Amino acid sequence: MIKLSNLHKSYVTGSNRLHVLKGINLHIKEGELVSIMGSSGSGKSTLLNIIGILDSYDSGEYRLNDTLISNMNETKAAIFRNEILGFVFQSFNLISFKNAMENVALPLYYQGISRKDRNRIALEYLDKMGIREWAEHLPGELSGGQQQRVAIARAIVTNPKVILADEPTGALDTETSYGLIDLLKTINRSGITIVIVTHEHDIAARTDRVIRLKDGIIQNHE
Ligand code: ADP
Ligand code: MG
Repeated sequence: MIKLSNLHKSYVTGSNRLHVLKGINLHIKEGELVSIMGSSGSGKSTLLNIIGILDSYDSGEYRLNDTLISNMNETKAAIFRNEILGFVFQSFNLISFKNAMENVALPLYYQGISRKDRNRIALEYLDKMGIREWAEHLPGELSGGQQQRVAIARAIVTNPKVILADEPTGALDTETSYGLIDLLKTINRSGITIVIVTHEHDIAARTDRVIRLKDGIIQNHE
């Protein structure tokens, strides 16, 4: 599903060049639930953003669902993202002036689905996340755990093949975090590949495979 071979990425700012990813070899199979662990600044977000086609890489190869991802124009990348990928972020990234249902329904708008159907489907997904009764509430009226459930509903409403989550529990207390990981496990069992970036050992331990990123390379052999 996700295959990276000898992938390199540097950031250049002025005359400084920071070599963040130094030859990443990684294979994540369809249906896996994996975590990417590493200390702060080790390049976890950089790696996840490349996997999510939100950022480019310098050399090597990245294949997603058997398609070579390289120098895609933004239109093509956006289509790929919409059809295959779902994103969950530490900061939830919900639209503050839209209610929970409208936030979940938004990706369906880009698929040309009518408002009535969008809202009906959004309610179904909020129900799956156990927060149906919060549909009419704005993000600011929800707890962190509830907001992340809305964000997860939004990520899966388009039926993606892969969910990419960058520190999804980073803003949550331990108990809420474990509840959220359990929810992601349930989603994974329906066949969706899930990649969770985290620097928390106890979160990583709850996934099926831990991938360690250190000094720009993957530590454990694939
Ligand atoms: P992590 O998510 O593991 O904390 P990041 O991937 O965010 O790490 O960052 C890895 C390194 O790259 C850090 O040193 C960070 O400061 C640097 N970095 C990240 N994004 C940029 C950018 N857009 N421009 C320059 N440097 C960046
Ligand atoms: Mg990060």
